[in-house]
Amino acid sequence: MHQVTLAGLTVDTRHFIGGERVASPETFESVSPIDGAVLAHVARGGSAEVNRAVDAARAAFPGWRDLGADGRREILHRLADLVERDLEQLANLETLDNGSLLRSHRRGVMPRVAMNLRFFADWAVEKLHHPVWQTRGHDNVVSWDPSGVAALITPWNAPLMLATWKIGPALAAGDTVVLKPAEWTPLSASYFADLAAEAGVPAGVFNVVQGFGAEAGAALVAHPGIARISFTGSVPTAKAIARSAADNLTPVSFELGGKSPLIVTDDADLDLAVELAVEQYDNAGQVCLSGTRLLVHENIADRFQQAFAAKAQQLRQGDPRDEATQIGPQIHRVHLERIQGFVERATADGARVVIGGGPNDELGGLYFRPTLIADAKPGSEILTAEVFGPVLAMQTFASDDEAVTLANNTEFGLAAVVVCGDRDRAERLTKNLVAGTIWVNCFFVRDLAAPFGGSKKSGIGREGGTWSFDFYADVKNTVYAPTGWKE
Ligand code: NAD
Repeated sequence: MHQVTLAGLTVDTRHFIGGERVASPETFESVSPIDGAVLAHVARGGSAEVNRAVDAARAAFPGWRDLGADGRREILHRLADLVERDLEQLANLETLDNGSLLRSHRRGVMPRVAMNLRFFADWAVEKLHHPVWQTRGHDNVVSWDPSGVAALITPWNAPLMLATWKIGPALAAGDTVVLKPAEWTPLSASYFADLAAEAGVPAGVFNVVQGFGAEAGAALVAHPGIARISFTGSVPTAKAIARSAADNLTPVSFELGGKSPLIVTDDADLDLAVELAVEQYDNAGQVCLSGTRLLVHENIADRFQQAFAAKAQQLRQGDPRDEATQIGPQIHRVHLERIQGFVERATADGARVVIGGGPNDELGGLYFRPTLIADAKPGSEILTAEVFGPVLAMQTFASDDEAVTLANNTEFGLAAVVVCGDRDRAERLTKNLVAGTIWVNCFFVRDLAAPFGGSKKSGIGREGGTWSFDFYADVKNTVYAPTGWKE
């Protein structure tokens, strides 16, 4: 009853607390976006389960802290080994649960899960050092001390990858963890808890509480016993979490939404620009970083639009388990309808659908056609709000200054893509763009050592390399005087 076999894995659908499986009186359904099949009934946690998990994580904290970075590294590498052992099944399980392409999970996303664990485990041992420096003969020594229990709240668009982007540094830093996965994609985290136990992560160090945001999530972020909240998700949820965190002054790290620009200058390699623009439909547009606003120089706008439409219309949409598929389904009926609402309001407001514009009726289900919108009114919703689906909007500009003004005309600042033929010109453009990450003539090149995060409403804080440890640890300065030592 509490276990299902999916993709060759036995997945326990209860919480994982203090090294044990814990049931709840109620459950919720996990439904596959591929065909609407009910995959599992998952424990629906609330404050009782959260309290128990935070207690377990607090009890386990001193032992995990005192193990030191070397001891933790060994265990986290074993956990990464187990992810790699089960990679094929994990990839299949994630595809069933969130509908993203199986080939992406196999070749990119799941290998990244293991890499997240290894990278931060190694970083804590090898790179987390600051040179000692002197102030009037006194030594300043910096250390990154484990801070306690980290509450991790994650979304559904890359469930285990985004969870381990937090779990890796939190555990490597010596914190213990309570993870609340997204309710639309609870299964990979549940299986991952078993892998953690098998790898030798001590009981209570890693806990999973399943459930809805308003119940389990809200109880977790309001808990006074947690030391950190790391959240990836939407702006409205971040605001609710910030209000809860304020009561306890719990530090927060927020990775939020975006409405990123993709700027194409008139000297750009047009083929490259089109290729990069079509890539923005990756994961059926359910990517926070997507450059969803195509800002194209007016001199090349017609040629760009034609070439883009031709290429985008060739994208193969279908079952995400099929190797040839390039665009799979949206995550959920509610989400599909939300996407459709954006397109309908845009066209009612005078915008023009260049390609796509609605669900793929041949496929049915949750498939939405790759869509390009043009001629939207300046400042209108489709140019400012995050759709989080395969819907791009195109605007034109006459000068680079205008491109920057249009690009920055948003409350978000997560990423930007610039396609440009001249390095100096690109440097002038990027200097004035407000974004956490800018890709020039490329997209989605992500080094775990690099800072990652959003400006404006796209987030608070940066993660990656030492930036992650700056958040999960208490950074301490110890000052040693030159005098007072026994001879
Ligand atoms: P969401 O905010 O609805 O939910 C995210 C998580 O928060 C879920 O686990 C949910 O259960 C939980 N939650 C909801 N209400 C809560 C509350 N009151 N208290 C505590 N937890 C609560 O977001 P989503 O729809 O799952 O994800 C899509 C959003 O995530 C998009 O805006 C996207 O841009 C963003 N995102 C950002 C990044 C990034 O790195 N910047 C990455 C992926 C997704």
